[in-house]
Amino acid sequence: MTKAFYLYNTLSRSKELFEPVTPGMVGLYVCGPTVYGEPHLGHSRPAITYDVLVRLFRHLGYKVRYVRNITDVGHLENDADEGEDKIAKKAALEKLEPMEIVQTYTIAYHDAMRALGTLPPSIEPRASAHIIEQISLIQKILDSGFAYISNGSVYFDVPAYDKKFKYGILSGRQLEDMREGTRDLDGSSDKRSPYDFALWKKASPEHIMRWPSPWSDGFPGWHLECSAMGAKYLGETFDIHGGGLDLQFPHHECELAQNVAGRGCQGVKYWMHNNLITIDGRKMGKSLGNFITLNELFTGSHKHLQKAYSPMTIRFFILQAHYRSMLDFSNEALQAAEKGLKRIMQAGKDVESIAYTGEGVLNPELPRIEEDVLDALCDDLNTPIALSHLFDAVRIVNSAKAGSLTLGEGDHEILKRLFGDIIPNVLGLVEELGDSDDSLVGGLMDMVLQVRSEAKAKKDWAMSDLIRDRLKNLGITVKDTKEGTEWSRN
Ligand code: ZN
Repeated sequence: MTKAFYLYNTLSRSKELFEPVTPGMVGLYVCGPTVYGEPHLGHSRPAITYDVLVRLFRHLGYKVRYVRNITDVGHLENDADEGEDKIAKKAALEKLEPMEIVQTYTIAYHDAMRALGTLPPSIEPRASAHIIEQISLIQKILDSGFAYISNGSVYFDVPAYDKKFKYGILSGRQLEDMREGTRDLDGSSDKRSPYDFALWKKASPEHIMRWPSPWSDGFPGWHLECSAMGAKYLGETFDIHGGGLDLQFPHHECELAQNVAGRGCQGVKYWMHNNLITIDGRKMGKSLGNFITLNELFTGSHKHLQKAYSPMTIRFFILQAHYRSMLDFSNEALQAAEKGLKRIMQAGKDVESIAYTGEGVLNPELPRIEEDVLDALCDDLNTPIALSHLFDAVRIVNSAKAGSLTLGEGDHEILKRLFGDIIPNVLGLVEELGDSDDSLVGGLMDMVLQVRSEAKAKKDWAMSDLIRDRLKNLGITVKDTKEGTEWSRN
């Protein structure tokens, strides 16, 4: 904690010195995925951004409690109060229980996040497991007069809130300007104003996911879960709330208003938003045919992809841009990232094989590089600048390897910290399993397949299928033949 960290706060629209609520501790809440489909490219950027943030805080000596939720109920289509629940819709389509959809895609999400080298959050709460907390928060908002009951549903009264506290301070919107995008209410709506949003929705007869409440059998509004779970696990006011820029409005704006209305405080010191990824200059979307899942990226099985890209290449590609900048995805950019990553990884190996013939620090550039790398990371997580300084270190390693530069033991110590600590532990860039590790993979596969054949011998088909499916997610295909079990990497 000797180093100052500056963070851009969406709320104040400026970089601020980071001062945690509790000295030495960081409470971080990040909005996680709504688990109704395969994890895709869009999931990778927030996951990697907040992963590096957590790693950096730990490197600086902080304890971090990182909470990332799983949305498994209440997220309706078009992020509005109308339409079907995204998970229930997928469940009906696939003739499965909603919680089977949740389970399938939570596992797929975890697998993809592990492949990208992100550390798991400290707590991963689910919306459906916190209905009681959400009902109690709704009651508080009703008690304070900023919500009303209508036909069994409960709505947040945005105009009443706006009069007292100003609605829109996070996104910088004025209530008058929000007219656009909201539909005029027809006679059948339960809302008093088109700006109002649902805290509790009465379930229609065919709606599957429902819970009893004082107002009706129904389900919570999407924005509510994060207000309830953030406070439960991190306290009524915690340090950082993160998420994608697409969540700033309405999701986070509504969260902030709920906190103020229900608890009398904004609840969050620093709001942090990562920018989005475009594909060849266009927004990613199923209707545009450029929707790419992470599995398709890792295996190259999408018509937009010239080849497969490894998870570490994706990670490096994302770190090459500042988290608040737009990032455009293209085959050219990915292939450039692949080359850059290779150069860093090779230099990391060379650090241990070149000779250090002198004593002390012989290269005056290296201490400066080490300082600059950490300065960049502590300046609102500027990973592209940190990487550019690390490439200066790569050039020094390459010169020493070519024999045009002599380095001492002091230089070695600095290079070990850069390539053996900052790169793998803070940026999370690690060597991927390649050809040289094939013997290790072979040994592990022998072991895994032995466990699977023992499961089959005991007729534990669930276990044997689980192993096969998990391997498939890792890009390994298992085939049972007369001769035994064969496996291959995609
Ligand atoms: Zn959220």
